[in-house]
Amino acid sequence: MSLIEFKNVTKQYKNGVTALYELSLSIEKGDFVFIIGGSGCGKSTLIKLLYREEKPSKGSIILGGINVGKLRNRSVYKLRRKLGIVFQDYRLLPKLTVYENVAFALEAIGEKKKNIRPKVLKSLELVGLKGKVREYPDNLSGGEQQRVAIARAIVNEPKVLICDEPTGNLDPLMSMEIVELLSSINQKEGTTVLMVTHDKEIVNKMKKHVIALKDGHLFKDYKKGEYVNEIL
Ligand code: ADP
Repeated sequence: MSLIEFKNVTKQYKNGVTALYELSLSIEKGDFVFIIGGSGCGKSTLIKLLYREEKPSKGSIILGGINVGKLRNRSVYKLRRKLGIVFQDYRLLPKLTVYENVAFALEAIGEKKKNIRPKVLKSLELVGLKGKVREYPDNLSGGEQQRVAIARAIVNEPKVLICDEPTGNLDPLMSMEIVELLSSINQKEGTTVLMVTHDKEIVNKMKKHVIALKDGHLFKDYKKGEYVNEIL
């Protein structure tokens, strides 16, 4: 069985807008997937369904054996522990240092105190920021801030790393560095990576699994990462 499976998933919001129609797709363990498509095509909805910010109206979503839509509210933490999430705007805590921002994610889930330091340092090393542990986010470049957010997202060794337009605020060079970093985490740690993006150059350069949405429908599912022209 695949790590992530959507079966005939429809999502209609309360205002009547249908954001996804009968979406079926599967993502294997260790996969690196770009989710692409124009504004309003349902990319964020797909992501929100995965981390149970929203529930499907119809169909089922299975992630690592968990039926995400059917999960009780009090059990959602079980799902979230399998996930790391990175957003376009980094969402770091400005009054905490780089080290503290990453440590906070472990403290919040009740990690043993003696494990926190080695895990935080390993994670910051992986993103190339071990030298910046005492800095505050405001003193870092956008690319560095996003690296901290990635370190925070992977510090608990999630099965799936979900990135919602992680390069949306970055210039092309920094964007490519962030994608290369995500790709190395995917390869070194075996973490399954899902990345929502508008960046055609990145998608075409990396040649990964590409899921393209159009008006809430699955438009293309390129398992081997072909060039994508018409959709972006
Ligand atoms: P994308 O991320 O590709 O821009 P979204 O998933 O955000 O697309 O949106 C898909 C459609 O669902 C759009 O028409 C959007 O207006 C609508 N939508 C998104 N979130 C909500 C919401 N919370 N309530 C109502 N409609 C929504």
